[in-house]
Amino acid sequence: MDYLKLAELLFPDVDRDTDYYEAQYPPRNLKEGAAVTRFAPSPTGFVHFGGLFPVLVGERLAHQSEGVFYLRIEDTDSKREVEGAENDIIKAFESFGIKFDESVVHGGNYGPYRQSDRRPIYRCYAKKLVAEGKAYPCFCTAEELSALREKQEAAKVIPGYYGEYVKCRDLSYEQVEENLNAGKPFVLRFKSFGSSENKVKFTDLIKGTIEITENDIDHVLLKSDGMPTYHLAHAVDDHLMHTTHVIRGEEWLPSLPYHIQLFKAFDFKIPKYLHISQLMKLAEVTEEDGSVKLVKKKLSKRDKGAGLTSYISDGYAPECVTEYVMTLLNSNFEDWRRANPDAPLDEFKFSIKKMSASGSLFDLKKLADVSKNVLSRMSGEEVYRRLVNWTAEEDKEFNSLLTADEDKSIRILSIGRGGAKPRKDFGLYSEVKGYIGFFYDEYFEYIDDIPENFSKDDVKKAIALFIESYDENDEQSVWFDKIKAVASAIGFSPDIKAYKANPDAFGGHVGDVSMFLRIAVTGKMNSPDMFEVMSILGKEKVISRLTAFADKL
Ligand code: GLU
Repeated sequence: MDYLKLAELLFPDVDRDTDYYEAQYPPRNLKEGAAVTRFAPSPTGFVHFGGLFPVLVGERLAHQSEGVFYLRIEDTDSKREVEGAENDIIKAFESFGIKFDESVVHGGNYGPYRQSDRRPIYRCYAKKLVAEGKAYPCFCTAEELSALREKQEAAKVIPGYYGEYVKCRDLSYEQVEENLNAGKPFVLRFKSFGSSENKVKFTDLIKGTIEITENDIDHVLLKSDGMPTYHLAHAVDDHLMHTTHVIRGEEWLPSLPYHIQLFKAFDFKIPKYLHISQLMKLAEVTEEDGSVKLVKKKLSKRDKGAGLTSYISDGYAPECVTEYVMTLLNSNFEDWRRANPDAPLDEFKFSIKKMSASGSLFDLKKLADVSKNVLSRMSGEEVYRRLVNWTAEEDKEFNSLLTADEDKSIRILSIGRGGAKPRKDFGLYSEVKGYIGFFYDEYFEYIDDIPENFSKDDVKKAIALFIESYDENDEQSVWFDKIKAVASAIGFSPDIKAYKANPDAFGGHVGDVSMFLRIAVTGKMNSPDMFEVMSILGKEKVISRLTAFADKL
């Protein structure tokens, strides 16, 4: 068979050869060891939280080595039915501080970055395979293929176009020409040179050396509309875009033997591979005997926490989410963080060797803990700026209260920060209002009651005496001495130890008096430091809240 002639017959539209593209996309001018990585999603309109894992790995590996991290939209299978999906993907990751160097939007010298715009390139490379006898047209109809599948199912063999089931591999030039003249549609198939008897070994940088059965299936390279399948497209793209590390979900591992054959057929350099395990969640399953068991399940699109952008609207600070993902990705990250509490995440040296080969477990509680830690390390002003941005989108009313008096809001958010043991009240912006809302009359409410073992009279007396002695210019120690004096005056112990030694001798202790004041002023049993709370609220507000509380008793 004259394969060159066959290639011309099948690809009259292709007038360039692959040298043209090789020259157009020369090796990148990067320093030795620089990684070129990509995120290559299909634009489905849904950005999965799990995408953050390969994205962070790719971004870190590239930027840590002064390489390039690019976004490639793989829309050859799904068509571009979702308008704006590409922008949504870019925006979603940018809101987590992740920047692509090249993409449909950012441009770059190795584009187009959308596969549906690269059709002539794929066809040119497909033609080369035909010219070298490595691919062939297949005219089998849908009916013939489903009959084949049924036959294979009945014989209990692996389904697919391979070995004895292959029909079109050896069509002569004349037969192909005849079919084309008769207007018969065709797909282009890869002439696999593998055997299911053999195993291929390769090294995945996360999973180690793996052995998988060689591919013997003549997979489709070009569909009947002339568009490539993902497999062909990604091989050509990773070659021309000079990807050094392919980082993707482990669901692609079974395709790897085929991908490696494709790279070999083209004589492309095989990239390094990192297949990331699926993100799992713990789900409750009820057994037949009624007992409940926890099992690991894939975090699916419908699960809470599956959508990446929902984290932003739910009120997670993006840096908390990336910090959490980093704790799952690198086993030494938490140690590094303890040693470098204030360093930016980018200073952490990400290492492939510290990645776990088994899947990560999605754990919202752990995320909440990490978030509280991350926010507790920020200054009041840093939290304020972020909170203002978030509330501008998600809680306009709170936003206007916060911004009406910036100094006051920053003072409120600064309480308990900056020391060795900063307060860890909230992990989400959406929780902040619950903690500091009482500073604003609009949100102030009585949530906790004075415990019933205290007499209302004692509470009223304590409040009245405190109001009498309160001076907003007092230092904290003087302020507290005055509360002790109030305690003594109503027959409570000014000293907690003395109270504990002889509880029957007192109506309560100074801590109880503080609690009365706290509930009256904040509406709650728990609040940030009362001295600071009072000084931020100001004398007038403190007294009016105390009076109103005493009056309603
Ligand atoms: N387009 C594929 C996906 O959406 C990407 C596979 C790869 O990264 O090679 O899963």
